[in-house]
Amino acid sequence: MVTALYPGSFDPVTNGHLDIAFRAAAIFDRLVVGVFDTPPKNVLFTTEQRVEMFARSVTSRSNVEVRAYKGLTVECARSVGATVLVRGLRVMTDFELELQMAVLNNRLGPEIETVCLMTSAENSFLSSSIVKDIFRLHGCLDQLVPPQVKEALTKAYEDNPETWAVPRYLAG
Ligand code: ADP
Repeated sequence: MVTALYPGSFDPVTNGHLDIAFRAAAIFDRLVVGVFDTPPKNVLFTTEQRVEMFARSVTSRSNVEVRAYKGLTVECARSVGATVLVRGLRVMTDFELELQMAVLNNRLGPEIETVCLMTSAENSFLSSSIVKDIFRLHGCLDQLVPPQVKEALTKAYEDNPETWAVPRYLAG
């Protein structure tokens, strides 16, 4: 029985994350999605919201669970019994960061292997930041995120409209 941990910020979860999670769930016996509590970047959603949005998107898979974690990813892996870390690779720029993290995580936890799954063509340029940018400009998110994420973005915007600066590169 192999358990894999898929760690990330997921602020918010996108169809790209879900594609990786579903494919990993088909490879490994059990997949734990680890939502990092304190990522080194500003997050829009609370940890609880990020966990809930991901969890609601994977209810169809009985071998996938979603939980928050703090601290080292390898410690989270150990605590859930995972021997594999799953990450997704999109463009070349992901590679350098993923390589660095895989090497460091292997040093911190030599018993844990990192496995990277290649993005699907339709999700190659999809990221949580792009989703937020498109939302701010009222673009269509239908193919990019599950419906509950769209609802959560709408609510976040309604609750705090002034914090939503429009990204210049998309604003024409
Ligand atoms: P981070 O941990 O860098 O904050 P994210 O939460 O954005 O990362 O993503 C978690 C993992 O999912 C990373 O390995 C990232 O490369 C991967 N990922 C994000 N978006 C996609 C996508 N569209 N296709 C494939 N993998 C993705």
